[in-house]
Amino acid sequence: MNCRQARNHMEPYVVGDLKPELADQLEQHLKQCAECQRYYEEQKRIVALLKRAFGLKRQFV
Ligand SMILES: [Zn+2]
Repeated sequence: MNCRQARNHMEPYVVGDLKPELADQLEQHLKQCAECQRYYEEQKRIVALLKRAFGLKRQFV
């Protein structure tokens, strides 16, 4: 998986909606790629903020 693919899959991954085989590949990429790790941390933070801001616990995922 390259960075472009990793970033395409990042959003469903962060909300737990990515297919397990793709999630595995994405995790492998994250281990090797500091830039995508940063991107991942950012996405996680945004999703956490959104969930808190809108009280979306079940609907969001
Ligand atoms: Zn990358």
